[in-house]
Amino acid sequence: MTSFEGQGRSVVTDPSELLPVDRYREFVFRALPRPQPIELRVGDTLGLTLADDVFAEEALPAFANSAMDGYAVRAADVAAADQDAPVEVQVVGEAAAGGSSPPHVGEGQAVRIMTGAPVPSGADAVVPVELTSGSGATVAIYVAPSVGANVRPVGDDVARGQKLVSAGTRLGPAHIGLLTAIGAGVVRCFPAPRVVVISTGDELVSGQRDLGPGQIRDSNGPMLAAMVRQAGGAAYAVGPIRDDRGALGAAIEENLGHADMVIMSGGVSAGAHDHVEDVLTQLGDVAKFKVAMRPGMPQVVGRVRGVPVLGLPGNPVSAFVSFEVFVRPALRVLQGRRDLLRPMVTAALSEAVVSAEHKRTYLRVRLSRQEGHWVATPTGHQGSHAITSIADADGLAEVPEDVTKLDAGEPVRVHLLIEV
Ligand code: AMP
Ligand code: MG
Repeated sequence: MTSFEGQGRSVVTDPSELLPVDRYREFVFRALPRPQPIELRVGDTLGLTLADDVFAEEALPAFANSAMDGYAVRAADVAAADQDAPVEVQVVGEAAAGGSSPPHVGEGQAVRIMTGAPVPSGADAVVPVELTSGSGATVAIYVAPSVGANVRPVGDDVARGQKLVSAGTRLGPAHIGLLTAIGAGVVRCFPAPRVVVISTGDELVSGQRDLGPGQIRDSNGPMLAAMVRQAGGAAYAVGPIRDDRGALGAAIEENLGHADMVIMSGGVSAGAHDHVEDVLTQLGDVAKFKVAMRPGMPQVVGRVRGVPVLGLPGNPVSAFVSFEVFVRPALRVLQGRRDLLRPMVTAALSEAVVSAEHKRTYLRVRLSRQEGHWVATPTGHQGSHAITSIADADGLAEVPEDVTKLDAGEPVRVHLLIEV
């Protein structure tokens, strides 16, 4: 049985002080500015959200062209053609892709044509070269094409004036191809938000330096910066910053100018050296909440000079889960996304679990398919400092606030961390 209890002291919290997860997420959203679109060249928009509907100013194809290599003919001239009784026509020229004005096709005539070449005037069908006798001054046609056979008419793919891509679409490679084909040079998209990640804690050292007594490595900085990048933001990691009001204030002030959001980790609990809330209160408009979740109960949210600032608890699992539940959706808002939450699946628990009272527990799980159903297996040690539990996880299984125990086989909703 996997338990959150017994992983250190179980803090007794008055349930009336707890704010539901979804309400806290609304506080986070309220701290966000309205995202501002910018003009970008179409080729630079991969993964960005389109701000406006885009309408086609041109038809696609813009001119009738051949779908095959073959001969452009008048269907009526060769209506009697078949394998045993081919019809001979006179070849009066060639139409190549990129060529400007192929010769007119008169009665009893044909033009050798390549895929993508404009269909000559007079012709109304293309016979594939395989169904003809091939090259020469005349050519024998072995089939009777219908009018329009192997011709791609004007506007066949896109009609002029048609809505091409809707506002709110996240642009993928095919959208970039389509918008380019139609001649849209620039479009308005929401740019990647610039996110400053600040690690706080006297015990933290960065990188691979030797550790002194009581020191640990700042793993949240690189982890949260990577999460920002994965969520479509541009990350800039700062710190570690000491648990000192002056140093914390300076780090925030120095970075506000180039941040669309600031994320801090550590220093938001009730310890004697947890100063993040105090410092932010001096600088701006912030609030601290106890959120009804585990891990990740203490959270700080606010704005300093118009920039949203989020304070996450420092335990690596708490920071990770807080990012998934609050920061990632907030970054999606800043990117103009309409789908704010990750996809969820329902899975059966592989084993019984117990969970904290009055709090939504985010259990780290690995997912597998068994007999056509998802099965969620807790990833070992579930303490909020146990970073292996997130490294091994495919998802976060939610155990609802009012549930303290689930049996093996019971269903849980799993917030996916991977693409399935
Ligand atoms: P705090 O939220 O500051 O009380 O920190 C809670 C726990 O998380 C402590 O054990 C810290 O040492 C640890 N912690 C805080 N910040 C980081 C960080 N940047 N990287 C790794 N562990 C951290
Ligand atoms: Mg700390």
